[in-house]
Parts: sequence; structure tokens; C-alpha cells
Amino acid sequence: MYDNIHLIDLLRNENALEKEQWIQLFDTFTDEDRLYAAGRARAVCDSIYGKDIYIRGIVEFSNHCKNDCYYCGIRCSNKKLSLYRLTEDEIFECCKEGYEAGFHTFVLQSGEDLSYSCADICRIVSRIKETYPDCAVTLSIGEKSHEEYSEYRRAGADRYLLRHETADEEHYRKLHPLRMSCKNRIRCLYDLKELGYQVGCGIMVGSPYQDSSCIAKDMLFMREFEPEMIGIGPFLPHSDTPFADMPRGSYTLTLFLLSLCRLMLPQVLLPATTALGTIHPMGREEGVKAGANVIMPNLSPTAVRKKYMLYDNKICTEDSYSQCKTCLNRRMTAIGYNVTTGRGDHISRTI
Ligand code: SAH
Repeated sequence: MYDNIHLIDLLRNENALEKEQWIQLFDTFTDEDRLYAAGRARAVCDSIYGKDIYIRGIVEFSNHCKNDCYYCGIRCSNKKLSLYRLTEDEIFECCKEGYEAGFHTFVLQSGEDLSYSCADICRIVSRIKETYPDCAVTLSIGEKSHEEYSEYRRAGADRYLLRHETADEEHYRKLHPLRMSCKNRIRCLYDLKELGYQVGCGIMVGSPYQDSSCIAKDMLFMREFEPEMIGIGPFLPHSDTPFADMPRGSYTLTLFLLSLCRLMLPQVLLPATTALGTIHPMGREEGVKAGANVIMPNLSPTAVRKKYMLYDNKICTEDSYSQCKTCLNRRMTAIGYNVTTGRGDHISRTI
């Protein structure tokens, strides 16, 4: 049996571990192991992307959702939710404001809201791409058919975020009602990849019923799938969901996993997520120090931000965008990093 430092070196050299080795790391890591992994991960990231931190402006354009995921604050059974949906013009205005502030990636995210047709989404995407051809558009609107993904891509969408949530079928069942399936989510991810999107998958750390074996399966799945992006944040309970009383995910395990993802997929674009910034006031800084290189500030109109509450106490729902921008620049400069306004494509797409 290898000790943990040895396993971390092995991962750095071979970009892979066996299932049992992953489990050992998750079950026995110390702060020393975690900081060692962070140092290695940061060096790997610096050698590829330098000290640049990419920013993505996220527009949360609707909190209507047909799904009923047990962990999520905008699930359809949450009757306390005050619903909203932005018009095409409002979505475009958010991007315009973002463009003027220097953003070159817009992430359009929502619940699975069937009132926007495939043609509606395509119209929004092509309007943004025609007006701002130097920008990337990322969609994060859930599970769709191959045909719909293909239409969005034709309209100009460059990237797609769809966290797989868990690669363990049994665990998936405990997080979602029966009509959703792990298989379909994975099918979506492969469709997106085949269509030429830069694709992001990912998990919540410490989601209810998750164990080390689940996370080991997630690592093996991601090794196999080779996403261009990975979204990882701690699970945080939302008071109006069935998981209201479940414990939050571990902050240090989240940081450790960020480093391990960086070592496994050195070129991956890895955000220090809003959930990480919510669980700890320095979460995003520590995320960057652990190997993350993306931050996703909110471009949604302040009036609706509090309504897109996936979990309790989400940060940055009060500030105007310009306040967020100043705050982020200050935070990143303070730790020796530099917020850049480049498009920030996966390195394999820039050569
Ligand atoms: N409807 C889109 C967007 C979902 S929200 C989709 O299906 O992809 C984006 C992500 O927020 C989810 O994939 C989930 O991983 C995360 N999330 C939802 N509820 C959460 C919670 N309570 N704590 C932490 N993250 C949460």
C-alpha cells in the first residue's frame, strides 16, 4: 500500500488512480496531504494557464423547473419559491452589460423551463453570438435531446455545463425522483461531446448518501469522459427541500477534490464555485490556491438574484455587478492572481 503523498505523486505522473487508491485518499487524507496536493495542482495549473483566472458571467434566466431534485431549492415542489423568468431582451441586456464590463463568456443557466422552446433558445444564442462574435456562449439548461443540443450548437453555442451529479446509479436514485436517470444524464454528456461542445460535468461534494466509493466512481467516470470543465462545490442544504436537515458537504474535501481533478486532468477549466464561496468566506481564494482557474460572477439582474436560490445563504445576491467585479479583482490580486477578460477556452481548442 502506498502512502497518500506517494499516491498524489502517482496521480500527478500518470493522471489516473485505481478505485481503491481513490477511496484510500478520501478516507484517510490529512491537512498535510491536502496542502501537498494543492501545491502540486497549482504548479500544474500555472504551467498551463499561468496566473490568469478566467471569468464567466452567469445569467440565471429562469427559476421555473419541471424537475424535482431533492437537493435543489428551485425544484418544482418548492411552492414557496417566487417564480421569475427573463425575457429574451432582458437576457440580452445582461450580456450587453457584461460585455461592456469586459466579459467574453456568458453562461445562460436556468431550471428546466419548457416555456422556452428550442427555437427561443437558438434565437437568444444567435443574437448574442452575432452581436458579440468574440464571445463564447455556454448553456446550462439541463437534459435535452440530441436534436435540441444539435440546434443550439448550430445557433452558435460553444460550451455546455451539465453536472452528472453522481456516477453511481444507486446514489443517483437517492438524489432524484424515479423519472430522472443517471443513464440519461450521461447520454446527454456524450451527445454534447460528440456535437463538439466544450463540456462540463461535476458533482456536489457531500451530497446526502454520498460515500467514498461514489466519489471514486466520479473520478473514474471523469477520467474516462475527459470533460473540458468540471464544476465541484459543496452540497449546501436548502430549507424548503426534503434535504433541509442534511449536513453540508466538507469544505476541506471540496478543496482536496479540486486539486485531485487538476492533477487528473491537467488542462481542465475548473471554477472556484459560488457554493465554495458560500461555505467559507475565503472559499474562492482557497479554491484557486488548490488549482481552480475560473470564477463565475453573477450577471443576473439584482431584482431576481435572491429567487435563484439553489441552497440557503448564497453569496453575492445583494451586490451590483460592478461591486462584484471590484471585489473579485481585489480578492484575486491579494493572492497573486490576475482576473483576465479572455474567452478562456480549453487549451486544446486554442491551438
Ligand atoms: N437545470 C440545470 C442547472 C442546475 S443548477 C441543470 O440541470 O444542469 C446547477 C447546479 O447547482 C446543479 O447541477 C447542482 O449540482 C448544483 N446545486 C443544486 N442544488 C444545490 C445545493 N443544495 N447545494 C449545492 N449545489 C447545488
